[in-house]
Amino acid sequence: MAQLTQTSKNKSGFYIGVGCPGCGGELELEDQFFVIECNHCGSVLRVTMPEIPPAYLVSAKVTQREARFAVDRFLKENNLPLTDSSTACKQFYYPYWKVDAVLLKVRNRIEIREYGCDENGQTEYVSENEKTDISLTPFSTTIPAGAEVDGVPVAIGMRADYMKLVPFSRATTQDGFDALPVVKSWPDTCVALLKRVNSLGKLDEAAFGKNRTELFRPVASLVYFPFIVAESYSGGRFNRFVVDAVTGRMLEHVDLSEYTDESTSPEPVQMEFGQLGVDLHRCPNCGDDLPASRSVIYVCDNCLQLISLEPSGVDITSISITEPNGNDNDRLFPFWALTLPETELKRLQRLFGGIFRSDRLVLPAFRIGNFEAMYRLSKRMSAALPQLTTAPVDSFDQRCQAVTLTLQECRMLAGIITYRAELARMAGTAATPADIELVRAELIYAPFHPESYFYVDSLMGAVTFEKTLIN
Ligand SMILES: [Zn+2]
Ligand SMILES: [Zn+2]
Repeated sequence: MAQLTQTSKNKSGFYIGVGCPGCGGELELEDQFFVIECNHCGSVLRVTMPEIPPAYLVSAKVTQREARFAVDRFLKENNLPLTDSSTACKQFYYPYWKVDAVLLKVRNRIEIREYGCDENGQTEYVSENEKTDISLTPFSTTIPAGAEVDGVPVAIGMRADYMKLVPFSRATTQDGFDALPVVKSWPDTCVALLKRVNSLGKLDEAAFGKNRTELFRPVASLVYFPFIVAESYSGGRFNRFVVDAVTGRMLEHVDLSEYTDESTSPEPVQMEFGQLGVDLHRCPNCGDDLPASRSVIYVCDNCLQLISLEPSGVDITSISITEPNGNDNDRLFPFWALTLPETELKRLQRLFGGIFRSDRLVLPAFRIGNFEAMYRLSKRMSAALPQLTTAPVDSFDQRCQAVTLTLQECRMLAGIITYRAELARMAGTAATPADIELVRAELIYAPFHPESYFYVDSLMGAVTFEKTLIN
């Protein structure tokens, strides 16, 4: 597992500490990791994400004494009296929703171009063109899930991305720390977030039509972040000092003489959290370890059984490979080919214009962080599909690249890129996002070879994508 070791070293990403089902030893993994090997017993393990938001906790790293020291240093620097015996310390975890989503932006603007000048330096010709810029980008944020506490930050920002997180439970909660109740449910928070993001589009005034900013596929988890708060009453004033209990940094000084009563906080919401699962990554047929690479589809090396890890209810109609399928130096990249109902297909063919003569919508079955590049590759592969012959896969080919995007996710992305195409044609006026209905879903492997910065398809030499997209 060289990959795991390498990525663990740079300490980026989202850490979750859980136990190995083989030996009980502690595992440290990032959420991008799906298959890992236990350092203690060598078991190959698969991590499964729950359907409902899971809850995590960030452990405090500083003691009350250290927090108090940070407060005193702050007071000293500001020529204020230091804390004394009347100062009381509270330690708590404050809940935040951590959200990851896809952001779609449509901006309509007028592009002005000047061509040439006369002898006097006056512009001779100016053109004004209506331009629509559309982009799909990843979006991450944190939002308070608890009742407002003056001085506690409204976001934990990038901290949520590099902190080590452990699943939230009674056992992981540190002595002396209370978890503040969640008062904003995820469904309510999600609605508020979508509304807020929507209003962002209206801030930039559109030169024509309508600007849009919309969020898709929001995935949430709850993160309890530790704070140590020192409060005192002296000289007729209440003071509150909020310290980040991970870094020990003094964050906020609240002068409570101007403070309103907090006792009217909203009712906590009843919440159930999703559990992160760790399973042995083995063939259900013969019990042999499956390849330790992340994929949705595996072929067991031992019994050759095909294993799909799609959630139940999602059916893959067939798996095929192009005919011919290139030489030994080619890589076979997987694509999802979606057959849509007749009416839906007509709409898409109109939408994608001359480019889309195919009877199927084809999306890469591997993760591409750059959504715009994914959109372009989907259009090219959709257009190229009628020129390809495919045959069912009968044995596993070592050149096959991992399937890292599930059919379920692919269907969601298909809905988003269709909407994006619709917006591009109508300058963001009348389009509405809709789910894509499926008649059939096939997985097709096609050969590509590297050429300088690109992968180029080996059959037509027509479809290319940047090498950097898959790293
Ligand atoms: Zn183990
Ligand atoms: Zn097997």
